[in-house]
Order: sequence, then structure tokens, then C-alpha cells
Amino acid sequence: MNCPDCGASNPGGAKFCGSCGNPMQAPQQVGGGSKSSWDNIFKWIGIFFVGMFVLALLSGL
Ligand SMILES: [Zn+2]
Repeated sequence: MNCPDCGASNPGGAKFCGSCGNPMQAPQQVGGGSKSSWDNIFKWIGIFFVGMFVLALLSGL
């Protein structure tokens, strides 16, 4: 991983550049929040349908 400021090579996971002391910027994906919120919605929809299925089984028996 190279320093974004001076370009010096640093070990992976380093928080600061060993050459100039610049904070290393970890690669982060932008816009991941919306995807995770949609995953959360689909998870609750799945839980809802499983619950309805169990209720239907219990009421049918
Ligand atoms: Zn640097």
C-alpha cells in the first residue's frame, strides 16, 4: 500500500505513513449504506413470510 501523499511503500494495514506521517486512507466503498439497508428490508420481509407460514401451519393443524 503506497502513501497517497508521498507515494512511499507501507505495510498493509498501516494507519500512518512511515515516511511522511500522513494518515493512510483505507479503501472504502461509497454508497454501501443504501445496499445494507435494502438487505435489512429483505431480511425482515423473509422473517415476516416465515412467520406467516408458521402461523398458517399452526392454524391449519
Ligand atoms: Zn507518505
